[in-house]
Amino acid sequence: GTADLECDVLVLGGGPGGYSAAFRAADLGLKVVIVERYASLGGVCLNVGCIPSKALLHVAAVMDEVAHLSAAGIDFGAPQVNVDTLRGHKEKVISKLTGGLAQMAKMRKVTIVRGYGSFVGSNHLEVEETTGAGQDKTGAKKVVAFRRAIIAAGSQAVRLPFMPDDPRVVDSTGALALQGVPKRMLILGGGIIGLEMGTVYSTLGARLDVVEMLDGLMQGADRDLVKVWQKMNAHRFDNIMLKTKTVGAEATAEGIKVTFAPAEEGGSVPEPQTYDLVLQAVGRSPNGKKIGADKAGVAVTERGFINVDIQMRTNVAHIFAIGDIVGQPMLAHKAVHEGHVAAEVIAGELQGNQELAAAAFNARVIPSVAYTDPEVAWVGLTEDQAKAQGIKVRKGLFPWAASGRAIANGRDEGFTKLLFDDSPEAHGHGRILGGGIVGTHAGDMIGEIALAIEMGADAVDIGKTIHPHPTLGESIGMAAEVAHGSCTDVP
Ligand code: FAD
Repeated sequence: GTADLECDVLVLGGGPGGYSAAFRAADLGLKVVIVERYASLGGVCLNVGCIPSKALLHVAAVMDEVAHLSAAGIDFGAPQVNVDTLRGHKEKVISKLTGGLAQMAKMRKVTIVRGYGSFVGSNHLEVEETTGAGQDKTGAKKVVAFRRAIIAAGSQAVRLPFMPDDPRVVDSTGALALQGVPKRMLILGGGIIGLEMGTVYSTLGARLDVVEMLDGLMQGADRDLVKVWQKMNAHRFDNIMLKTKTVGAEATAEGIKVTFAPAEEGGSVPEPQTYDLVLQAVGRSPNGKKIGADKAGVAVTERGFINVDIQMRTNVAHIFAIGDIVGQPMLAHKAVHEGHVAAEVIAGELQGNQELAAAAFNARVIPSVAYTDPEVAWVGLTEDQAKAQGIKVRKGLFPWAASGRAIANGRDEGFTKLLFDDSPEAHGHGRILGGGIVGTHAGDMIGEIALAIEMGADAVDIGKTIHPHPTLGESIGMAAEVAHGSCTDVP
C-alpha cells in the first residue's frame, strides 16, 4: 500500500524504552520514526512517574529533615506550603528533561509523529494525529511503513471497577497533579508507588490510611528492610490495614466512603471510612490490547502483555517489544536496557553485523528502589527467596548505627545487608547473590551491589575494595567484611 512515511525502524511509544531504542537505532545509522500520542517524549516515567514523584519526594525529604534540625539548635518554624508553586516546580523539572529529549531526538534526526498509533498490517502502522497538551484527535491520519518495529507502548494504572468517577478518586497521575492537600487520604495498595505518593502528601499535611490485600507493605523487599522504614514512618498513618480488601466506595458530600472486607476467611473487618482523597495504586496493566497488534500478527496475552525472547523479539520475527508491555518488573531502567537490545539486534540484522545481531538481554539482576524516607533498595536474591528456595546463604549485615557518616547525618536507623552463596561447592568463597539497603540514599548505592553481582564478586573482592570514609557507601564494604568474618569495626 501507499505510505506517508517510510523508515527502517518504527518505535511505538516515546517512553524510556521507546526513546532509548530510537536513539540507539539512530546512532547505529538507521532511519527512525517514533509515534507518540502525547505532546512530549518521556512516557510515564518523565511525565507522570519516576521524575515528578522524585521532584516532590525530594522536597518532602528536605522538609522532614529541616524539621528535625531543631535538635541541632536550628529552628525554621512551621512550613508555609504553596501548592501552586510546588506544582510549578515539578512541571519545570519535567519540562527541562522532556525538552532535553526533544533536542536529542532532533540532533539524531529521529522523526516524531504525534498521534495514536495502531498497526494496520505487518509492515504498516496508522497514526491518528493528536494535538494540544492531551491527546485530542485532529482527524488527520498518516500511514508509516516500516522494515522493523519496536513496540514500547507501556502501561497504565489499574482502576477498580467499583470506584466512583469523582475528582477525589485518583491514580498516580492524578496524585502527581497535586490539586491540593487532603486532610484524610487512603492509599489503596501498599506498593512502592502508593507509599511514595503517601510520603509526599503526608509531609504536606495529610493523614494516611493504607489498605493492602497481602500481609505486608512493600512486597518484594525483605521484611527486615521494610520494618525499619515502617518504624520511621508510623507517625504518618492512622490505619495500616493488611490482609484487607476494598470492596466498595461511594461519593458523599463529606468525602469518599470506602468499605473493606477481610482478604481471608475469618479476618477482622475494619469499619468503613471517609476520605478526602483516595489514591488507587493497585498495579499497572499493559497497553497491549490497544495497538492493533493482531493486524500485525503479534500475539498478546489475556492480560495485555506481549511475550518476547531474550532478543526482545515477538512471535513476529521483524517486530520487537520492550518495557512495561513485556512484563515485570515494570521499571524504567529495565525498559532502557531492553530498548538498547532491540535496537542493536535490528541494526545488526539490517546491516549484516553479526555481533550486533547477537545482542540479548541477559542481565542477572534488576534493582528495585522505594524512594521513600528512608529509602529501601534491593537487588538479586532476597533473604526471603533464599529461605523459600532452600538456597544456603552467608549473610553480612552492617548496621548504620556503627557508621560515622550515618550518625553525623542524624540518620543511623538503616542497615546494609549482603547475601553470599554458601553452598558446599562455594567452599566458603561464595559469590554475592543479592543485597538490600534501607537508609537515606539507599537507591544511589544499590548499583554497586548490582555491579558486584554482575561481575561475580565474592566477599573478599567487596571487602577489600577501598571505599571512601566517611560515607554511607562504606557500609557495603563493611557488610562484606562481616560476611567474610573479618570485620574491623571502624565507625
Ligand atoms: P511508558 O513510559 O509507559 O511509555 C509508553 C508511551 O507510549 C507513553 O508515552 C504513551 O503515551 C505511548 N503510547 C502508548 N500507546 C500508544 C499508541 N497506541 N500510540 C502512540 N503512543 C502510545 N520506574 C522506575 O524505574 N523508577 C521509578 O522511580 C519509577 N517511579 C514511578 C512512579 C510512578 C508514579 C509510576 C506510575 C511509575 C513509575 N515507574 C518507575 C515505572 C516507569 O514509569 C515505567 O516502568 C516506565 O515508564 C516504562 O517505560 P516504557 O517505555 O515501557 O513505557
